[in-house]
Amino acid sequence: MSPTTLLDHPGVSPESTASRSFNQEDFNTYVMNTYGRFPIAIAKGEGCRLWDTTGKEYLDFVAGIATCTLGHGHPALAKTIAEQIHQLHHVSNLYYVPEQGELAKWIVEHSCADRVFFCNSGAEANEAAIKLVRKYAHTVLDFLEQPVILTAHASFHGRTLATLTATGQPKYQKHFDPLMPGFAYVPYNDIGAIQNAVTDLDEGNRRVAAIMLEPLQGEGGVRPGEVEYFQQLRQICDQNDILLVFDEVQVGVGRTGKLWGYENLGVEPDIFTSAKGLAGGVPIGAMMCKKFCDVFEPGNHASTFGGNPLVCAAGLTVLKTIEQDHLLENVCERGEQLRSRLKELATKYSPLFTDVRGWGLINGMEISADSDITSIEIVNAALTEGLLLAPAGPKVLRFVPPLIVSESEVEKAMILLDKAIAKVKG
Ligand SMILES: *Cc1c(COP(=O)(O)O)cnc(C)c1O
Repeated sequence: MSPTTLLDHPGVSPESTASRSFNQEDFNTYVMNTYGRFPIAIAKGEGCRLWDTTGKEYLDFVAGIATCTLGHGHPALAKTIAEQIHQLHHVSNLYYVPEQGELAKWIVEHSCADRVFFCNSGAEANEAAIKLVRKYAHTVLDFLEQPVILTAHASFHGRTLATLTATGQPKYQKHFDPLMPGFAYVPYNDIGAIQNAVTDLDEGNRRVAAIMLEPLQGEGGVRPGEVEYFQQLRQICDQNDILLVFDEVQVGVGRTGKLWGYENLGVEPDIFTSAKGLAGGVPIGAMMCKKFCDVFEPGNHASTFGGNPLVCAAGLTVLKTIEQDHLLENVCERGEQLRSRLKELATKYSPLFTDVRGWGLINGMEISADSDITSIEIVNAALTEGLLLAPAGPKVLRFVPPLIVSESEVEKAMILLDKAIAKVKG
């Protein structure tokens, strides 16, 4: 099945079913105000298209923040979920869950990992990785008492207390102190800073036990990791018994054109995490590790929902569909197309944009620091035109469409973006 035909599955015309009553006042009265929401409510999706409660159509280049790998209403995913919920959706990890074993096997056979732990979100997957690092440090690394995990400035690792501490962005940490001990920060893509930190933090019972990084920083501005930096990093880790942990929550599962983000860097992590795109929008998280650092024993870590039959069946369908429909090829081709079109727009509106960068279908377009225009202004204008985009910080536009996006949809998105930029420039 070619990616474009995925839109053609039978069903009720989306336009006719999109209208739905929605009471924004009630929503704001009853739901905690934790998001700066755009003033639309989505009622229906199909492929890369969405319809809001008034019936207005959008082209979706957000994909639930890099999550709806197969787009919306994908027939294979819908079928799997419907069948699995009729068969069995949840039992707990007190029993063997066959679907969980199958998903873990698929991941291990298609990655550098030997073992998998399942949970429900990216933050939880990173929490699991942090706990694994600490247990490894305490039990294997000379009973190290104060293990430190190095993370990067502008990183994003989640909103729980440990992952918020790991996140190298003070704006997210404000008012939530005391933060978790055992973390230190370095600039991204700066090998000298790693060397200094490893030396400086080595005193008494304290030393660096792990370095945790995104292969490409997503939320912090779509910044790709540099190959040379990561290869030197791998050497430093090997020489100093430091675990290398990759947060692949945003870039894993085909988003970069490779199945895993680390494949773009020519290095293997010891531990890596996945979540967002892994089950195409069904909540799942996973922490993968190599055998040598799998130090968890019964009772060390757990999750009630983690790896239940429903989410694992969904995850397996997403991964098998990526493989069977050759979606990685589509990601590479559409990514090239998108970046070349974005570069044309950057030239057209020069000097408003200073950079276009990314891998596969995670791309960023940076607005000049000299301009007063912010990413959210262009995102708002694009929404009015019928294109959904997400900002990645105040100056970067993020493009993360479903991996099934077609050539004509990329072209259409660029026409809408062009109109939006023209309106913002005035
Ligand atoms: C989104 C994200 C997380 C957090 O995932 P949640 O599912 O929201 O907890 C962690 N790391 C990265 C790189 C992310 O993009």
